Amino acid sequence: MALIVQKFGGTSVGSIDRIHHVAEKVIAARHQGNDVVVVLSAMNGETDRLIQLAKSVNSEPNSREYDMMVSTGEQVSISLLSIALLARGCPARSLTGIQAGIKTDSSHKKARIVDIDPSRLRKELNEGRVPVVAGFQGFDELGSITTLGRGGSDTTAVALAAALKAHECQIFTDVDGVYTTDPRVVPQARRLDRVTFEEMLELASLGAKVLQIRAVEFAGKYNVPVRVLSTFEDGPGTLIAYEDTRMEQPIVSGIAFDRNQAKITIRGVPDRPGIARFILGAVSDRDIDVDMIVQNVPSVDKTIDFSFTVQRDDYKSALELMHAAAEELEAKEVLGDDKIAKLSIVGVGMKSHAGVATRMFQALGDEGINIHLISTSEIKISVLVNEKYTELGARTLHSTFGLDAPPRDEQTTKSTK
Ligand code: ADP
Ligand code: ASP
Ligand code: MG
Repeated sequence: MALIVQKFGGTSVGSIDRIHHVAEKVIAARHQGNDVVVVLSAMNGETDRLIQLAKSVNSEPNSREYDMMVSTGEQVSISLLSIALLARGCPARSLTGIQAGIKTDSSHKKARIVDIDPSRLRKELNEGRVPVVAGFQGFDELGSITTLGRGGSDTTAVALAAALKAHECQIFTDVDGVYTTDPRVVPQARRLDRVTFEEMLELASLGAKVLQIRAVEFAGKYNVPVRVLSTFEDGPGTLIAYEDTRMEQPIVSGIAFDRNQAKITIRGVPDRPGIARFILGAVSDRDIDVDMIVQNVPSVDKTIDFSFTVQRDDYKSALELMHAAAEELEAKEVLGDDKIAKLSIVGVGMKSHAGVATRMFQALGDEGINIHLISTSEIKISVLVNEKYTELGARTLHSTFGLDAPPRDEQTTKSTK
């Protein structure tokens, strides 16, 4: 008997009808001879509502209490599904993060899973029940409820699959797999049959929210095969796994974009050792993540310009810190821009191909899209552009690298061959 973990996202459990639909799917998987562990998100929109509720009392709610509040969304959906399963005669039991043994560190709102004690889950499975686990939550050393960051139910599912050595972790969502780019933005996007952990990690961290980054990290580390599938239509979905058996690797497998970006430049900084540490230290001491970093060569007056990007939520705080740093360093000025977006191309095939960056810059230039910053790794190139060009940029790169789906009539001809 195979053990599978099935995770259903917010849209998939967004109404009572959909809860019933999910119950039928879980029962069907059991009838196929599988043991099933279910992980659920909160009903669509519920986590946003709870966050607003907490913020209506104080705009910066205490983070322990914030976690206590937002974790309740998942508790509603797991009980609803368990009620639906039990009503169909399927033995099921809802479990919170604590009951499922999900231990995390104490960094509230973005806790990391440190250990899983699967004994309770095993017991439920051995007794023939379907454990229905609340995603997105765990507990720390003090026994406080923690949450894993937005989209964290994906990570709960993959971590449980790793701890239980499950055969596969199935992520059911509102699209039928991982696409070459967000299909809601680029209609020509194509579903990928498979994608490597490496590529998926880049796509997720560069803005493709179909899977939380930490879920992909877990999957890669523990070699858990993950399949992204639609809750609403049958199909093969997308398999995320190590080996890549594609006959011919495309140079670029996907395009990602992220509008949640802001850029800060501190100009005319004296060029001396320790400057980068001074500037970035001020930001990281406040727990603000820095993404792209560029320092230019010294100008004739022996000063440098230093630019970096942060998430838009952190923009105001980072800007204030830089004004203070600029004063201390006697820098010329601080410039900020929070109307920018990051566009990225990702592909393992890039490793062995020269000229990919040139093609990317040429295509953007031809569309009149100016590039503010560039960063690269072995399998990705990211550029920062004005946010008004996000969609045009994504569409342009999608067709430049040959990712567009063939026109409809051609698809029909192919499928009837
Ligand atoms: P869930 O609530 O099921 O966790 P999410 O909204 O978190 O679902 O993730 C699914 C969404 O991710 C899709 O509706 C799609 O718009 C978006 N998305 C972004 N990039 C991609 C991509 N490359 N492939 C598929 N979906 C993507
Ligand atoms: N409910 C949480 C969120 O909206 C976790 C999740 O859906 O994965 O972010
Ligand atoms: Mg999600």
